Amino acid sequence: MTDVFADLVGQDEAVATLRRAAASAAALLRAAAPAVARAGAPAAGGADPDGDDDLDALADEFDEPGPAGPEGVDPGAGMTHAWIFTGPPGSGRSVAARAFAAALQCVHGTGCGHCPGCHTTLAGTHADVRLVVPEGLSIGVSEMRALVLRAASTPSGGRWQVVIIEDADRLTEAAGNALLKAVEEPPPRTVFLLCAPSTHPDDISVTIRSRCRLVPLRQPPAGAVAEVLVRRDGIAPDVAEWAAAAAQGHVGRARRLARDPEARQRRDAVLAVPRRLTGVGAAFDAASALIEAAEAEAAAAVAEIDETEKAALQTALGAGGTGRGAAGAMRGAAGQLKDLERRQKSRATRAQRDALDRALVDLAGFYRDALTMALRAPVAPVHRDTAALAGAGAQKWDAEGALRRLEAVLECRAAIEANVKPRIAVEAMMLALWRG
Ligand SMILES: [Zn+2]
Repeated sequence: MTDVFADLVGQDEAVATLRRAAASAAALLRAAAPAVARAGAPAAGGADPDGDDDLDALADEFDEPGPAGPEGVDPGAGMTHAWIFTGPPGSGRSVAARAFAAALQCVHGTGCGHCPGCHTTLAGTHADVRLVVPEGLSIGVSEMRALVLRAASTPSGGRWQVVIIEDADRLTEAAGNALLKAVEEPPPRTVFLLCAPSTHPDDISVTIRSRCRLVPLRQPPAGAVAEVLVRRDGIAPDVAEWAAAAAQGHVGRARRLARDPEARQRRDAVLAVPRRLTGVGAAFDAASALIEAAEAEAAAAVAEIDETEKAALQTALGAGGTGRGAAGAMRGAAGQLKDLERRQKSRATRAQRDALDRALVDLAGFYRDALTMALRAPVAPVHRDTAALAGAGAQKWDAEGALRRLEAVLECRAAIEANVKPRIAVEAMMLALWRG
C-alpha cells in the first residue's frame, strides 16, 4: 500500500511528525463542524478578533500541554499554521511539503494517496493548494501579496488553504515581510509550507523562522535509497546500489541514473572532465560541454512532468465540454492553462541551474574521492567507476592539490548560487582545475 508519504525515503522522523499533524488537522476539522453550528451565539468570554478561537481551543484539546507559542498555539501541538521543510538538495523538501498538503486535503485525513483530495493535490490541480515557484530567481513582493490575499479566503473544498513556497530562501526582503504578516496572523484555515535549504538567516529570516515549526530532512543514506529503487522501481540490486552511491543521497537522481541510459552518459561525460583538462583551450571546451549537458538534462527532466501536469489539468477541466456554462468554463480554463505554462517555463530555467549544480556535485565527488584516497581515509568512493582515475589523481596531486581542486568546484557552485553567470563561473573553475 502506498500513501502520499511513500516517496519520502529515509525520513522516518519527519514522516511521523507529518502523519501526526495530518491526523490532528483532520480531527480539528471534524470537531469544528458542530462548532460552526453553535456559532449563532457568541462564545463565552467574547469572540476572538482573529476568528480562530475554535481552532486554538481544539488545538489545546488534541495536543499535550506545553508553554504557549506565538499564536497561543501550543508549540508541541500536532498541527500548526506554518511549517519550514529544510534539507540538502534531493532530500525531498518539496516532496515532503506536497505530501503534507495532500494529507491535509485527503478526505480520509491520512494522505491515503487514492482519494480525489490526494490525487488533485499531487497533480497540482487542487483549488485550495497554491504552489509558489520563484519567477526567475527570486519571489517578488507583488506575487507574495497576491498570494497572501488569496490564501486568506475560505477553502472551497471545506478543508484547508495550503500555500507551498518551494524556495523560501529566494524571497526578496519585501516579499518576506508580506509573508511574515500572514504567518503572524494566519487566517484560521490557512497553512503555509515553506521549503529552504536550512534555517540559516541567509536562507530564511529569523522572525519568519520563529513563527514556523521546523521539519528537518536529512540526506537519505545510500542504503535506504537503494532499497526503495529495488522495492518500488524493480531495479536490480547491484545497479540500485551503484546508482544510490553515485547520486550521493539524491533519490530522484539515483532513480534516473539507474533507469535512464542518457543520464548515465551525461554523468560519464562530467566525470571525463578531469582527464580532458590538458590546456586552456580544452578547459574552455570542457566548460561549454558542461553547460550544454546541463541544458540537455534540464530539458529531459521537465518534459515528462510538464506533459503529466498538462494532461491532469485538461482532465480536471473536462477539455472539450459543450453546453451551458462551457464558455465561462473555457475562459477560466485558458487562465489556468496560462498559469500552468508560466509555472512550467520558470521551472525549466531553474531545472537548468539544478542540472548544472548536479553536474558540479558529481565533479566534486570525484575530487573528494581523490582527496580521501590521498589521505588514505577508510571511506568508500562516491564514484566506484572512476575510482582508479581518482587514485591516479591522488598520487599526482597529493592531498593538497586534490583539496584545491575540490574547493574550485565548490566555489563555482557558490558563485552560481550568488548569481554569477553560470558560463563565467564554470570557465573560471575549469581553468582552476587545469592549473591545479
Ligand atoms: Zn486521500
